[in-house]
Amino acid sequence: MGQQLNLALQIERYLPQQSLELINAISSKANQCGQMAYLVGGIVRDILLGYPNFDLDLVIEGDAVNLAHQIAKADRVKLITHPRFGTAKLRYNNFTLDMATARGELYAKPGALPVVTPGTINDDLLRRDFSINAMAISLNNNNYGELIDPHQGRSDLEHRFIRILHPNSFRDDATRIFRATRYEQRLGFEIEPQTVRLLKHNIPMVDTISGDRIRHELELIFRENYPEYILRRLSKLGALQRINTSLKGNGWIAEQFEKARLLNKPGLLSSLYLSLLIYPLRTEENEHFIHRLNISTKLAQVLRDTLHLKSQLHFLAQPFIKHSEIYYLLYEYSPLAIQTNAIASESQAACSNLELFLSKLRYIKTTLNGEDLLKLGFSAGPELGKALQILHKAKLNGLVKTRAEEEKLALSLQHL
Ligand code: ATP
Ligand code: MG
Repeated sequence: MGQQLNLALQIERYLPQQSLELINAISSKANQCGQMAYLVGGIVRDILLGYPNFDLDLVIEGDAVNLAHQIAKADRVKLITHPRFGTAKLRYNNFTLDMATARGELYAKPGALPVVTPGTINDDLLRRDFSINAMAISLNNNNYGELIDPHQGRSDLEHRFIRILHPNSFRDDATRIFRATRYEQRLGFEIEPQTVRLLKHNIPMVDTISGDRIRHELELIFRENYPEYILRRLSKLGALQRINTSLKGNGWIAEQFEKARLLNKPGLLSSLYLSLLIYPLRTEENEHFIHRLNISTKLAQVLRDTLHLKSQLHFLAQPFIKHSEIYYLLYEYSPLAIQTNAIASESQAACSNLELFLSKLRYIKTTLNGEDLLKLGFSAGPELGKALQILHKAKLNGLVKTRAEEEKLALSLQHL
């Protein structure tokens, strides 16, 4: 056991005033009715590392949901509770606070959700993934600020190790394989040798995780600054291939991810990473991936579009291709699929035509619409549609620019 460490001063310096006042209010309310409150998980790790983290996680020895109701009422903030799991989320203006009743967990079957029983803070820390995430800080009157570290998390932080708490950890929950790698690469740590051994041994357990949970892990990876490092490590460990044999975390992926970041579109980045990840897959492999990860219909369409467009790129790379041809080749594909190909295609010519579509061609519209053509004497029906398309193509190709030029062209069509 390490030396007793008191972090009261660090908490005060680290946490924004509002968060500090809030957790102190919660702990005194808890203490008043004989309950205990602790800061736990990532925030404790990051306080010790001096890294920013604005997710507050509290564990209550007592009844977190009831306590959360009292706080939400007093502060008039939004509250979401899951009484069955003993958890509650309070949403303040600029941060959220999670509260959970201390609990122990029992895994009846690998990959399944565990059976949960009320417990002490030590039970609650024992169910966690890694020693560096299994520390708590007491917020209670008798030992405020004291670090509770039953699994030598502080020592592992110093030695920069990611270490599981017991040999069955990866078997119980194989998402920890992805989590271990994510923390290792984010923090520049190393998965501790015995943990690596057990991780490799349990790679087949990836099969026990549901599609939704694997997808969630990928989403978390894609939120990191450099997901490619995590993918490379997962690939070396054999975990990525366990999801789908053709997935790769190689230098090519790293280059594409870098290009995706340079676009500076944070809202799109995660989906772009995903479609770049499947870019090297064959159609059947992509279908397997979509099915394995239970990907939504909408996103699945983007992935299918991406590969379909990839197979059509030679048309776009033709010299002297007209703008109207580019437009009508691309307009039915999802913009994300087009963007993915613009990043990943090896053909310079195809890339610049994809970019041209995204930045200009897709926005070009004719000035005249169907009603205008009716006024010019067209009758409703397929001919009118045809005329509109001819006008649109002419506009795309720069053959007509003004409304008058469009009208002139329209009238000439009428007399055909
Ligand atoms: P991050 O900075 O990535 O948010 P975090 O430590 O806050 O890191 P969360 O995913 O927010 O991570 O989870 C909060 C805490 O819950 C973790 O610190 C860990 O103790 C515990 N935890 C999360 N997922 C698991 C899991 N699969 N198995 C065991 N414990 C977990
Ligand atoms: Mg967190």
